[in-house]
Formats: sequence, structure tokens, C-alpha cells
Amino acid sequence: MGSETVIAPHDRNPGQPSDAYFGPAHPARAGVANLIIDPKTPEWMSQMLRQTTGAITDYYAQAFERPLPYRPLVMVSVSDFDSPGLSMKGGAVGQQVVYRVGGPALLRDSPQAQALFKELIAHELAHVWQNNVRRGGIGGDEPWVHEGGAEAIALAGLLRTGLISLADAEAYSTKLIRECEALKGAVDTYRGTYACGFKRFTDKKTDIFRLWKAMMDASEAKGEVYSGSMIEAITKSAQGSRAPEVTGSSQADRRQRTKHHRRSATFATRSGTMTASGPIANAAAALIERRSALR
Ligand SMILES: [Zn+2]
Repeated sequence: MGSETVIAPHDRNPGQPSDAYFGPAHPARAGVANLIIDPKTPEWMSQMLRQTTGAITDYYAQAFERPLPYRPLVMVSVSDFDSPGLSMKGGAVGQQVVYRVGGPALLRDSPQAQALFKELIAHELAHVWQNNVRRGGIGGDEPWVHEGGAEAIALAGLLRTGLISLADAEAYSTKLIRECEALKGAVDTYRGTYACGFKRFTDKKTDIFRLWKAMMDASEAKGEVYSGSMIEAITKSAQGSRAPEVTGSSQADRRQRTKHHRRSATFATRSGTMTASGPIANAAAALIERRSALR
């Protein structure tokens, strides 16, 4: 380990831990991020990662009017080329993003594989911004809020940066809305958090970046996690009618609930379900892996 690289994370939100990276690779810069790319990664993927990460992080910083006070670490690892099709998974915890990719279809630079990877990159980076608050942030109780939100942010970000075409964006949106309809709107199912969460944001017909900027500001100001009721309050006040006053007792209830949510969060991993408790629960809620397969 003579040439080991050590990158220590910054401590922005004390509720969100992240690990230091110890390893042999030297990071490359893309936009505001540091990239560590597995040498087995196909060239088209490395290129797309650099390009998409650079353009999307620049766009998010400007659209949310909230530059990152740190350089997030983005890592790609190639799992194996033997399992059929294509698998792409991502996770964001605090200031780090990890992608694990595999399958023989990865070696071919197909339009489908490109679209999936771009969407995954923009989605995970949306979580990095959702985590870019001093307090509050992602909660464990309503995953549709941050997952559906990340889908909506990703799609709008890719479209506005010209990384995908309007036709591709419309196709992706239609796919998610049909998926939600097939789930009968069940936002509490695993795929429903993405598809139906996306649909809930789309149905608001509001600028997704303006809405999430207001959510980040509200979360940080009040120390509350993102929630459906927060979205309702923001969209209501934007329409000119006042959000109802919060009484003393319900405020206390909410504090109680928030405290509880921070203590324990359950999230899905490849090997099953994992429950985190203590200070990592808040950040753990963002670590939800996803998988897509192509024939
Ligand atoms: Zn996600």
C-alpha cells in the first residue's frame, strides 16, 4: 500500500457520516466531484461518467442556488461480466456516491445502456444535493419524497443540460407513470417510491428545482426532514393561500416523531434489508440501491 490515497470527508451535517476512502487509485476531477473509477470500467462508461457528473453537478449547484461546500467522492466498481444482461446500481450516502455495474451488456455502448447510466448518475447526484443541508434533510419515513424527487430532478436536469433529448425524457416519464399505474399508485412499495413518487411530483406541475430549493431551505431552517406535508405547505403558500398554523402541541408531536425517525431507518441493500440506528439512520435512508436489466 505504498501509494495509498486517503481522502477524508468534510463534516457538514453531523447527522450524516461518511467514510474516508483508502485505496490505491488516484481520483480525477469532474465538475465539483472527485471520481475514482475501477480500471475494469468500459471506456464509454468512464467518459459518460466524467461528462455527465461535470454537467449535472454544475447545473444542480446553479439551479438549487446551493453550491456544495465539499467535493463529493464518486466511485465506480465493476462487479462481474458473467451475470446475464446488464446491472447498474447506485447509492448515495452523505457526500459519497457509489455505482456498482456489471453484466456483458455493459461492454457494448448501446443507447439503452447509456440512457440508464445517465439517469442513474443524475439520480444519485440529486441525493447528494438533498443531503446538502446543515440539518433536516432526508428522512426514513416517506422514501417516495426523496426517491421520487430524485427521479424528477434527474430527468429535468438531464433535459435542461441537453444530456438527453425531449423524446427520451418523455419516454422515461411515460415509463415511470405507467409503472405507477400498474402498481395502482402504491407509493409505499419498493418501485412505487420511485415511479409513484415521481408521478406525485409531476402532478404538481411546478418547477422541480424551485420546489426542491424551497424544501432544502425549509428543512434547514426548521430542522425537519423532507416530507409530504412539507411539499403541501410549500405548494399551498406558492399558490397564495396560507399554510395552516402549526399549534404548539402538534409541533411537539412532530419533534417527537422526527427524533424517532432519526433513531432508526430501514433500507434495502442487495443482501436484504438492513436497519441502521443512531446518527447514521438519517443518511442511511438515502442508500437505496436500484437495479435495471437489459436483455
Ligand atoms: Zn435513490
